[in-house]
Amino acid sequence: MVGKRRIYKNIRGRGGIQMKLINETEWDSRDLRRVIMRCLYERGVNPKDYVIHVTKGRTKYSGYTYLRKVYCNVGRGGRYAYYIRLRVPDVKRTVKTETKSSNIAIECMRVFDVKEFSRVLLHEIDHTRGLRHDEMISYWDIKVPFAKDYVVYPKGYKEKQYTIRVTDEEKEVLRGISVQISGNLLKCNILEFAKIYYRLMCEYLSLLWDIREQDRRVGKLLAMQGLLEKMANEVGLKFKITRKRRRYT
Ligand SMILES: [Zn+2]
Repeated sequence: MVGKRRIYKNIRGRGGIQMKLINETEWDSRDLRRVIMRCLYERGVNPKDYVIHVTKGRTKYSGYTYLRKVYCNVGRGGRYAYYIRLRVPDVKRTVKTETKSSNIAIECMRVFDVKEFSRVLLHEIDHTRGLRHDEMISYWDIKVPFAKDYVVYPKGYKEKQYTIRVTDEEKEVLRGISVQISGNLLKCNILEFAKIYYRLMCEYLSLLWDIREQDRRVGKLLAMQGLLEKMANEVGLKFKITRKRRRYT
């Protein structure tokens, strides 16, 4: 009876021995686990033989592993397992753009490269299967068609709601201007982006007092619009500004 239950637990993956994930990054552990499990499944290896340690890297995805099982001190007691360490780029990155008067930096969220991550992991799994480099196919030839079925989000991303706070003064200035931002919000911290946008708009429009003066500044405005569009493109957002003329009565 006890034996039976133990088997059942192992199959269910609850309470039984599972692949151990140590996640030291800001990427969602559940999302990472799904991709890792898929890679282990693709190579037909037993997940319980693996300890996967994901740490922060700079811009590249890289990994290393020991060729033999080692004693891994994880959780409640350790175990003999293949230890694979994977380095992945951090969630946050900064996009910098320069203008004549100021430097603008927007903190963005990176998009997790599931394809690249899977390739590195599959390569490392192959090492644990006893393969040497000369016995493996080239890294670039590793096929990962399943990668498109997975998304790895930053931790807590799905729960996060972005709100934009605009002061009354800013609202007054922004009257008559509507802004559309569309695209993958994951790619940019939209709050920061919008804040900077509003600030820039205010800087240019706060002194406007009549239509003619406004027209004189359209050139500047367009230049800034171009800049904003460029920045938006860099983070994969579509950006559209429409300006309604203010009616003076
Ligand atoms: Zn290698």
